[in-house]
Amino acid sequence: MIIIMEPGAPDEQVRAIEEDISHIGLRPFINPGVERKVIAVLGEVDISKAELVEHFSTFPGVARVDLISDLWKLASRTYHPADTIVRVNGVPVGGEQITVMAGPCSVESREQTLEIAHYVKNLGAGFLRGGAFKPRSSPYSFQGMGEDGLKILSDARDETGLPIVTEVMDTHEVDLVARYADVLQIGARNMQNYALLKSVGQSGRAVLLKRGMGSRVKDLLMSAEYILSEGNPNVILCERGITTFENSTRNTTDINAIPVLKQWTHLPVVLDPSHSTGDWRYVEPIALAGIACGADGIIVEVHHDPQHAMSDGMQSLKPDKFEHLMAASRKVAEAVGRRLDACKQNI
Ligand code: PEP
Ligand code: MN
Repeated sequence: MIIIMEPGAPDEQVRAIEEDISHIGLRPFINPGVERKVIAVLGEVDISKAELVEHFSTFPGVARVDLISDLWKLASRTYHPADTIVRVNGVPVGGEQITVMAGPCSVESREQTLEIAHYVKNLGAGFLRGGAFKPRSSPYSFQGMGEDGLKILSDARDETGLPIVTEVMDTHEVDLVARYADVLQIGARNMQNYALLKSVGQSGRAVLLKRGMGSRVKDLLMSAEYILSEGNPNVILCERGITTFENSTRNTTDINAIPVLKQWTHLPVVLDPSHSTGDWRYVEPIALAGIACGADGIIVEVHHDPQHAMSDGMQSLKPDKFEHLMAASRKVAEAVGRRLDACKQNI
């Protein structure tokens, strides 16, 4: 349920409603970003909803009370009709601009990461991606460089100005990763790790939330709700392919999820064609499809020497292929009324 206040309703009227909501055992949540105050009422309602609508409609300053039928409340377009633009160090995700996040799957060394960071920056990327804590299927595979990798990423940010997107896998490492990263990535395997979601919700950092390979779009939004309800409005959703019976590619890109998400939620949506296809040859066509159908950006793996990459070399683009992808993406962005400018960072 949301309570929409009259424009300019004084703070006392808002406070009186908040107190009443708490008094009946529910939780008031105010969306700070809009001109007129909208109070979301969160929690399990055991009294009749119609009664509750009537009850709150009588408070002074209330323009309207609406029920949100979606299970996700704060993520719902009903609660927040305008698109959310998440801004990280001045770089927008959402809005007119198509944002490109690019970089290696894993941070492997200072030279490797800086080299790739400069390539992707010069070719117009807005963010540098790279994993220091890697969720690998096998415990014997490279697990990432840990804090040393985070230090390299933060040096790459200092050199290029690109904000950093990197994964955090454990609640105990959220503070550490948040000290170095600008965007905390929740990987597909952790999309339903609720303790981790709450923890990144409290971290004060923007979050890139990847869809689990066996999760529905609805589950993704419920996971986003965990982060939002901790008071963190800066959530970016990511479609990265799901497991289906089809095994011609690593995962199946659920391209439908993009327009569906744009319909159901105000949060920005990016597509990861690298993990959704698992094959560099399909990265560009699928990335273009994502931009054409409304994605706010793409996150792409790039490596200067994919044959020797320590993870996901098969799906990594060499710099010349990334350059081609950027040029093609710009054309598709313009064809659908968006822009793909080289990002200007505030350094
Ligand atoms: C990654 O981004 O390198 C990664 C491991 O992604 P996902 O969680 O989508 O598999
Ligand atoms: Mn990867």
